[in-house]
Amino acid sequence: MKERLEALKLEAIGKISESHDLKDLQAVKVSYLGKKGPITEVLKGMGKLSAEERPVIGAYANEVRDSIQLEIDKKQAILEEAAISEKLAKETLDVTLPGRPVKHGNAHPLTSVVTEIEDLFLSMGFTIAEGPEVETDYYNFEALNLPKNHPARDMQDSFFITEDILLRTQTSPVQARTMEKHEGTGPVKIISPGKVYRRDNDDATHSHQFMQIEGLVVDRNVRLSDLKGVLETFAKKMFGEDRKIRLRPSFFPFTEPSVEMDISCFKCSGKGCSICKQTGWIEILGAGMVHPNVLEMAGFDSKEYTGFAFGMGPERIAMLKYGIDDIRHFYANDIRFLKQFKNV
Ligand SMILES: [Zn+2]
Repeated sequence: MKERLEALKLEAIGKISESHDLKDLQAVKVSYLGKKGPITEVLKGMGKLSAEERPVIGAYANEVRDSIQLEIDKKQAILEEAAISEKLAKETLDVTLPGRPVKHGNAHPLTSVVTEIEDLFLSMGFTIAEGPEVETDYYNFEALNLPKNHPARDMQDSFFITEDILLRTQTSPVQARTMEKHEGTGPVKIISPGKVYRRDNDDATHSHQFMQIEGLVVDRNVRLSDLKGVLETFAKKMFGEDRKIRLRPSFFPFTEPSVEMDISCFKCSGKGCSICKQTGWIEILGAGMVHPNVLEMAGFDSKEYTGFAFGMGPERIAMLKYGIDDIRHFYANDIRFLKQFKNV
């Protein structure tokens, strides 16, 4: 009987080592160690043995069973590892491959400049007002002290849609509309950024579509010195703390008096260079005290209220700030141009 067990053990170990996968191994396990397997059969025949032989054979049978189980366990570990390696080899996904970076766009340089200007005026207590780009003649011109046939209308070649409707030539109609809403009661403190349109032959400094940001403050006791203070703060924040400003007399139909504001050149600090055309000063914006007629037309008592207004071109400011030499770049959508403003 012992020989029989010994033979079974060798046979089983042989079958185990021949197993090529876990399924084979499981079959070997069932056939040798299962309830209907040969070892169980041997044990069932132990009743015929003598009392001396029985424990010896019993112990040996257990020994054989244990060593077969041990061989199965060892082989199982080897086969499992092989299965994992095979799976890894088969799968083409390489988890160590770096991912493809998601392409980030960036704000258009004009958008960046407008946002910067907006933030600056918001921090000074202004709010943002918007209005329609398709405007009536009344708000675009008449309410701004530019009656029909006024010669100053020639300064703004316009896209008329009908005799009374046009693409706005300036953001000033937003001022008229906002003042009207206030029904003669101050204070009004807004900036109005937006697109405007004028018939123009496009070149390096002219575009038939461009942007404006205007500001308007109406209240009791608003003076030219208040305008100067606001503009000076703007110039320093936008172009550097050591900027100086100067105001030159000018003409706009909707302000009286009217001024142009220059800033001291940020490139040469006043010595003279190509940016400031050797003058040391750069023209930045137009401004002035709101004309009494404009206040009256919008429902304000011009004896009680005064105000100031200013208007600037974000394109010009962006061109100065970033050294852009052609206004058409802003509207050409050339990705090589736009990508240069990733970090502004
Ligand atoms: Zn200069």
